[in-house]
Amino acid sequence: MKVDPSVIYARERDQNDELSDYRNRFVIEDPNLIYLDGSSLGRLPVSSLHLVNDLVRNQWGDRLIRSWNENWMDLSRRIGSKISRLIGADPDEVVIADSTSVNLFKLFVGALKYNAPRRKIITDNVNFPSDLYILKAAAEITGTDFEIISLPPTDEFSVTLDTFEEVIDEDTALVSLSHIMYKSSYMYDIASITELAHRYGALMLWDFSHSVGAVPLNCQADGVDLAVGSTYKYLNGGPGSPAFLYIRENLQSQLVNPLSGWFSHKEQFLFDLDYVPATNINRFLTGTPSIISLALIEPGVDLILEAGMDKIRRKAESQSEYMIELWEEILEPLGYTLNSPREVRHRGSHVSFGHPDGYRIEQAVRDEKAVISDFRMPDNLRFGITPLYTTYEELYTAVRALEEITQSKSYEKYSTKITGVT
Ligand SMILES: *Cc1c(COP(=O)(O)O)cnc(C)c1O
Repeated sequence: MKVDPSVIYARERDQNDELSDYRNRFVIEDPNLIYLDGSSLGRLPVSSLHLVNDLVRNQWGDRLIRSWNENWMDLSRRIGSKISRLIGADPDEVVIADSTSVNLFKLFVGALKYNAPRRKIITDNVNFPSDLYILKAAAEITGTDFEIISLPPTDEFSVTLDTFEEVIDEDTALVSLSHIMYKSSYMYDIASITELAHRYGALMLWDFSHSVGAVPLNCQADGVDLAVGSTYKYLNGGPGSPAFLYIRENLQSQLVNPLSGWFSHKEQFLFDLDYVPATNINRFLTGTPSIISLALIEPGVDLILEAGMDKIRRKAESQSEYMIELWEEILEPLGYTLNSPREVRHRGSHVSFGHPDGYRIEQAVRDEKAVISDFRMPDNLRFGITPLYTTYEELYTAVRALEEITQSKSYEKYSTKITGVT
């Protein structure tokens, strides 16, 4: 059955949406703005507004240094344990620290040393660039012998299991992949690739930056060794909020943290000059966390736990399906391609449409239609679907905005030169 391309239909879907009330839990300053970029920077939860006041005025302003013992010292672990529920891990397997890039560095070096003298590292070239840069840096600093094999996709969007099977062997130290691709939204099958890595004794690291808070995850059931993820995307933690890292329980005491600081010491406040690493997940901490930013992760995580990942995923599936049906009906005839998997089980929570003038169109819908998406080279217009606040009507209006901009060619007055954040 073809989708009904009318706003009335979109509104009906919103009326029947079991998660619709959650939109009120976010600050919506401009009701006319259609924000489809929560996959890059999530919206501000209302409760974060209240928390920031308490944090700054009371916890910092009034309680001062006493707040470390009263609240701050265990925040990295306490909020980490909430995130553990979103990734199917134990509370003591997750901690918040640093950025995703820095955590990748620490875990890469730890994994490569652990699996010495194995020398092969497997990844793919649709991974997020920072993951690949850091992998190279970590390999170079760990030894001279490593070979990074960055596989190109062997089907439409991803590397097939067969291809991984051809390259993973007894010499493989580490397989490192992003679970959901930042451009195409393709979603790998965690269990089968992890199982393959383990068959040959390699460690498996997953980057959940585009997955956590977007799709249900189960590190324990899938046997995941190591993982990292961003908190400012689907978790709504705020700009640059620190990332999380996960280490399987029985690996924690065996990996070496190359950025060992006083927060990873077994007994930090002895101020002992000899470094003795913690044997638990704290081993992968480094220094003092950015408390304000760290504390502000909690309200967004609480909202997701309250709504439930299964409901969130169900709505995201239905909304991305809807958007793709609208693409088929309205945008495909105008020259847009679908740059995301057509099959929902292979797709994360954002949808990419391709257009040769994508970057100019992204600017035009932003400035002329108040639709915020983002653009990724060479031609991807990305639309993040964040079910706690994205409505069907927004998706409908965004597609109509693309249609109008494309038909009127009003995007032609914009520059093709990429500047600033997109
Ligand atoms: C967003 C994202 C990052 C970001 O890393 P930062 O260190 O927070 O800048 C890294 N990897 C992937 C896969 C991402 O999607």
